[in-house]
Amino acid sequence: MGRLVPDFRFFSDSGAMFVPDSLPVGAGCLRIPLYTTVMKILIVEDEPSLREIMARTLQREQYVVEQAADYATASDKLAAYDYDCILLDIMLPGGSGLQLLRELKQRRNRAGVIIVSARDSLDDKVEGLELGADDYLPKPFHLAELSARIRSVMRRHQRGGEECFTAGNVRLWPDSRRVEVAGQALELLRKEYDILHYFMCRPNHTIDKAALAEGVWGDHIDQSDNFDFIYAQMKNLRRKLHDAGADIEIRAVYGFGYKLVLP
Ligand code: CA
Repeated sequence: MGRLVPDFRFFSDSGAMFVPDSLPVGAGCLRIPLYTTVMKILIVEDEPSLREIMARTLQREQYVVEQAADYATASDKLAAYDYDCILLDIMLPGGSGLQLLRELKQRRNRAGVIIVSARDSLDDKVEGLELGADDYLPKPFHLAELSARIRSVMRRHQRGGEECFTAGNVRLWPDSRRVEVAGQALELLRKEYDILHYFMCRPNHTIDKAALAEGVWGDHIDQSDNFDFIYAQMKNLRRKLHDAGADIEIRAVYGFGYKLVLP
C-alpha cells in the first residue's frame, strides 16, 4: 500500500480550496430535496496514520466524520447509521471493502462511495465501479484531491449539480457554507449553520432532538440523554434568523423537538 506522509501544509492548502470561485447567485436554486443532510462521512481504513489525517482534514472542512478500522466495525456502522459519503479501503482486517459495497447496494443505500485503494489494484477499481462506487482514488493521494472528489460526488448525488438550497427568503450554499437572508449575508457559527442546513433539507418535518443531535454532532451523541446543548445553539440561530428578517421559522415542538416552518 502507498503511504501518505502527514504533511500539515495540506491543511492550509485544502482549506483555501473552500473559498468559492464564483457561485451563480440566483441560478440553479432548487427547493429543498428531502434526502440531503449535513455532510456525514464514514472513513473505512485500517491504516491508523492515514485514517487519522483524513479524519482531521475532513473535520476541518466541517464534515461530521466517523471512522472504522476493520470490516466488522464498518459493517455495524453502515447498518446502524446513515452516511452521505463513504471512503472505502478495499483490503481490511476481517474482510473486503468490496463486500461492504455489495451489502450497501443490496440495501439500496444512497450514500456516495469513493474507493480509496492502492494504485496498482486495477481489478479492484473495475469491480468497485461495476458494483456502484462513484469514484476511485488511488493511494497515495493529495488531501486536496480527496476533498475535491468528495465535493464532486456529493454534488452529483445530493443536489443534481445544483449549488444552493432555498427556503422562503433564506438561501444556503453548502459548498461555501454561505447563507443569505433576503439577499443579505447572514453570519452563522459552525453548528448554527449545520442546524440550519439540516432543517432546510427537512422543511415542515418535526425533528426530534436525538435525530438532530446525531445528524449534526455525530454518532457518539445518541448515547446521551441530555440535549441542553442543542437548546443554546438553536436559540442563537433562531434569534439571528429573526433579526435578519427571515420569513422561515424553526419552531419548538413542545416535549419533542423542532420544525422548520415555511412562509
Ligand atoms: Ca487497507
